[in-house]
Amino acid sequence: MEKKTFVTLEQVRDMVKKYPTPFHLYDEKGIRENVRKLKQAFSWNKGYKEYFAIKATPNPYIMQILKEEGVGADCSSYTELLLSEAVGLVGDDIMFSSNVTPREDFELAVKLGSIINFDDITHIDFFEKIADFPETISCRYNPGGDFILENQIMDSPQEAKYGFTREQLREGFLKLKEKGVKHFGIHAFLASNTVTEEYYPALAKILFETAVELKEETGVHIAFINLSGGVGIPYRPEEEPNDILAIGEGVRQAFEEVLVPAGMSDVAIYTELGRFVLAPYGCLVTQAIHEKHTYKEYIGLDACAANLMRPAMYGSYHHITVLGKEDKPLDYKYDVTGGLCENNDKFAINRMLPKIDMGDYLVIHDTGAHGFSMGYNYNGKLRSAEVLLKENGETQLIRRAETPEDYFITLDLENFK
Ligand SMILES: *Cc1c(COP(=O)(O)O)cnc(C)c1O
Repeated sequence: MEKKTFVTLEQVRDMVKKYPTPFHLYDEKGIRENVRKLKQAFSWNKGYKEYFAIKATPNPYIMQILKEEGVGADCSSYTELLLSEAVGLVGDDIMFSSNVTPREDFELAVKLGSIINFDDITHIDFFEKIADFPETISCRYNPGGDFILENQIMDSPQEAKYGFTREQLREGFLKLKEKGVKHFGIHAFLASNTVTEEYYPALAKILFETAVELKEETGVHIAFINLSGGVGIPYRPEEEPNDILAIGEGVRQAFEEVLVPAGMSDVAIYTELGRFVLAPYGCLVTQAIHEKHTYKEYIGLDACAANLMRPAMYGSYHHITVLGKEDKPLDYKYDVTGGLCENNDKFAINRMLPKIDMGDYLVIHDTGAHGFSMGYNYNGKLRSAEVLLKENGETQLIRRAETPEDYFITLDLENFK
């Protein structure tokens, strides 16, 4: 599939008068349409709810849009909880799926009335010293081994630090039941960025079967199954996007097959999608500021890995469009780089692109999730602004760019005067 930008050169020329590049830009219309489709895919399930993984895009304006669409928040830290509270997402609108959880984080999660998802059996005793057990508690499951789909190893849960073993789930549920917990959830995240419609249905089947067994073994009421994140997006043009309606239908079939005959048709399905919900509806807008001709052809941008870490960290592909040159032949081979003193600061290596001239605006696609949020300050680089392209075509600054004052705010430079 051809990858198109949701913004034109004209619009960007207008935007840069107000917001200098680089900045992350989000598409409100795309976000809303996508979430509506997600909800439609699971509309067969009465209790369905999406808890957006805040870590993907921790911006209150984005969270507000999602909230208006009925989406809650999946938080894993103290500040993510505060962010959630700030936009009025509290109580069972928060799923607290943390790990290696500090005491203060549990305290705040309890204060806000969040649904707590324990990552480990030892957290039960840890938690007991902090607060009374709520009526509803979730536990994260790690089945171990390799997770295989269509004869392919998708991931290795046995190597993952998360979750209870199967035996610990049984033990944990019994212990929590004894402490007065009435309703239970089961959560698992077994593979990331899956570009296949089989992942969620396969995961659902595992969790549904486990739920039936656990109900028999422990006699507890299973209230929800949380399929967590992991539904991916086509970063590459040759990849097919996931059909979320087909995914929802696959989960429905597993539900009918496993839970309904067990008399468990009241189980709610929860998701914690970050990438699927937001990645395609954000992009990094940046300008070419240098060209370099040595052993290779380089284009240097005003953005760097501090603005988008995925290529440097995972070698991830992010599609690049040179605005205004969409129809030009891709007859130049470039490394597209940022200015960090790190040779992995490359947004693209050996990428075929149209001829790039200094001053051209480039759009780096699919940065709406795990983009800005993974940013950092290495080399004293400052975090960029975030801008919202609203449904009515207007733009809104939803986070200003950092200034040197922000960078120095944790230091007392006065001592060096
Ligand atoms: C990161 C994360 C998610 C979201 O993952 P995506 O890849 O963005 O779908 C959901 N749940 C938990 C617990 C996570 O850590």
